[in-house]
Amino acid sequence: MDSAAPAPDTRKDLVGLSREELLAEMTAMGAEPFRVRQLWHWIYNRGVTDIAAMTTLSKPFRAALAERYVVGRPGVARALTSVDGTRKWLLRLGDAQEVECVHIPEEDRGTLCVSSQVGCTLNCTFCHTGTQRLVRNLTAAEIVGQVMLARDALGEWPSPQDDRQLTNIVLMGMGEPLYNFDNVAQALKIVMDHEGLSLSRRKITLSTSGIVPMIRRCGEELGVNLAISLHAVTDALRDVLVPINRKYPLAELLDACRTYPGASNARRITFEYVMLKDVNDSPAEARELVRLLAGIPAKVNLIPFNPWPGAPYERSTAAAIKAFSDIVNAAGYSSPVRTPRGEDIMAACGQLKSASVKRRRSELLKDEAAAQTP
Ligand code: SAH
Ligand code: SF4
Repeated sequence: MDSAAPAPDTRKDLVGLSREELLAEMTAMGAEPFRVRQLWHWIYNRGVTDIAAMTTLSKPFRAALAERYVVGRPGVARALTSVDGTRKWLLRLGDAQEVECVHIPEEDRGTLCVSSQVGCTLNCTFCHTGTQRLVRNLTAAEIVGQVMLARDALGEWPSPQDDRQLTNIVLMGMGEPLYNFDNVAQALKIVMDHEGLSLSRRKITLSTSGIVPMIRRCGEELGVNLAISLHAVTDALRDVLVPINRKYPLAELLDACRTYPGASNARRITFEYVMLKDVNDSPAEARELVRLLAGIPAKVNLIPFNPWPGAPYERSTAAAIKAFSDIVNAAGYSSPVRTPRGEDIMAACGQLKSASVKRRRSELLKDEAAAQTP
């Protein structure tokens, strides 16, 4: 080994620790409990990553902290900005795995689409993320880190009270958040903490393909908004499009929605419905959707299918989407059609990860070419 190489940094990251865990760390180093609050403020309200800049702490204490800890951020492998202002970050994690995170600015809000896993173990047939083979859960630090990094890039420190560019969070990136509930919950509790990042649970939406046994816990422990990736109105079709339906069929899923804690007409459950040409987009299916949603405080979000290389589906025609939306609207449900954002940087729903996979492939080819060059 090269003796000049720096020793690997074994210091612990303070980001992602709960207040209780932070207290345990402080106690272990002989510091007073009130240090937790001070550190929390510097890390999550001020966004400071350099412990030396935490000026309300004494210099010797800062030095002692810096010996043991860092305040980290995920590495950015590449950052892209779409012509429509959407920004996408490809994050490189400690073990060189990659995930994506997308910021979507709109007139009255700015939404951050956060990933919960590297890839996804489920294989919804229309979703590119589902074709990724390698899967692991993100840690709480890696989930909170996406929010911190976006705040860095948007220049939103200290946590602003008003006029934020990052107002909403949706767990609609890569992965199934309810299959990584503990880490997602720990991360969201940090994100919602009033003395830190301070995003209200009302501005956070968790999207699930329908992991029924976890839905109630999500409502009780986190109280965030719920979105359900429905996509079909019969078990026969949903079994194909969203194969987890074979385990948790429509009737059970809709029951869990009916009793979701905190759902009301003011806080409706969003049903996401991807529009696939000649697969699930007929007027009869729109009418059946309305029938299924009876008794649930619901709104419908129609997502025109976003194609990816090799996808076995096509996007519904604009006329089919309009006819579908009109039927759902007439029944009293709001059913906006989601405008694809950031398509030019492959940041739209269901396209995440493809860019990095493509790049990997081209790098691989380059490597192969280099290996063959004498
Ligand atoms: N795994 C969770 C969270 C991901 S959310 C879930 O499935 O709910 C991503 C949303 O985009 C989901 O509603 C998903 O069904 C939808 N989606 C996936 N692939 C898509 C595609 N190619 N075009 C449009 N929407 C897609
Ligand atoms: Fe996973 Fe959601 Fe994609 Fe299905 S739609 S494969 S659950 S990320």
